[in-house]
Amino acid sequence: MRQNKVLVPTMGAIHAGHLSLIEIAKNYSTEIVLSIFVNPLQFEDPDDLAKYPRSVEVDTKLALGAGATEIWAPTIEEIYPEKVITLDSGAIGRKYEGAGREGHFDGVLTVVDRLFKHVQPTYAIFGEKDFQQLFIIKKWVKKSGMEVEVIAAPIIRDIDGLALSSRNSRLSAEDRKSALVISRALRQATHERSVESARDRLHDVLSSEPSFQLDYAEIINEDNFEPATSARKARALVAGWVNGVRLLDNMAMSVPAPVIS
Ligand code: AMP
Repeated sequence: MRQNKVLVPTMGAIHAGHLSLIEIAKNYSTEIVLSIFVNPLQFEDPDDLAKYPRSVEVDTKLALGAGATEIWAPTIEEIYPEKVITLDSGAIGRKYEGAGREGHFDGVLTVVDRLFKHVQPTYAIFGEKDFQQLFIIKKWVKKSGMEVEVIAAPIIRDIDGLALSSRNSRLSAEDRKSALVISRALRQATHERSVESARDRLHDVLSSEPSFQLDYAEIINEDNFEPATSARKARALVAGWVNGVRLLDNMAMSVPAPVIS
């Protein structure tokens, strides 16, 4: 019988968001593999790839300390020993995060496929921080009939509201203040009563911060990634840049409780 095993895929620069995934993994197995691999296939910008923070030694200590039982940091040759044929993430893979970053989700699926084949996990944990990635991976796992259960983990934020991200280390104190516009906009928008007013609020708040350069902001339906038409299962997505650092966040609409008369 196959022993239960959980995989927590990461690109390293471990922070409390990653550690929360290990915490969740403990509910599924005593064998927790944390992978660290900065996947060149999912970076369309060579500068972003070059600047991606790398700290495998510290990461290993942090992840083992949090309860991971194995750290796997493969080389590029181990993952891609020969010419790579990328998987196709489909139409949703070319929207939002995939629209401005050509091939991004094809690269994500290709690496996840290889990680799954190496580790053969029973469960794999992915954060809602990368909501579109989670959606695409879940759909692909279901379609390909893989025997891996994908578990979603909630977003971990700093006390000021900024979603934790490895890229945050590139923000100055001033940049960080500007970046807070994202979580502020999401909080305000998701408390609106209708999707239309949520969209307006999202854009209004985001445009109030001159240092934030918007890529996209939309309220989508969590089931199909189409623009939402009602607040039920709707989620606000935002991506953009502060001083050249790409930031990504999302939040579910809080649906008002029904009024009982
Ligand atoms: P990354 O190293 O950025 O590729 O992230 C590895 C995993 O950690 C992905 O499944 C992310 O969605 C998840 N993750 C990253 N940041 C957070 C966060 N702030 N809260 C929860 N999960 C996160």
